[in-house]
Amino acid sequence: MSNRREFVVKLSVGASALVAGAAFAQAPMVAESDATATSLGYKADAAKVDKTKFPKFAAGQNCGNCALYQGKAGDKAGACPLFAGKQVAGAGWCSAYAKKG
Ligand code: SF4
Repeated sequence: MSNRREFVVKLSVGASALVAGAAFAQAPMVAESDATATSLGYKADAAKVDKTKFPKFAAGQNCGNCALYQGKAGDKAGACPLFAGKQVAGAGWCSAYAKKG
């Protein structure tokens, strides 16, 4: 019985460590006003991309299906190597977009 109790205690400590880890991994979102974001034409909503300025943009392209996106498919946000320490929106887009192979 006491072994079981110890197991439960360890389990809950482990779970809170996991939660803390997840919170730590939650980097702030990139602001569209960010210097890198403006130079790359990043928009958190791909539908708002200026198509005159970025004619290479095609409907359906977004961070979520970009080769550089570090998030999983369907994630709301994920890391992108172009924005170190920040997260981009899965529905976002920037001019460095590269179709996932
Ligand atoms: S490089 Fe790809 S993942 Fe990164 S911001 Fe641009 S479109 Fe999104």
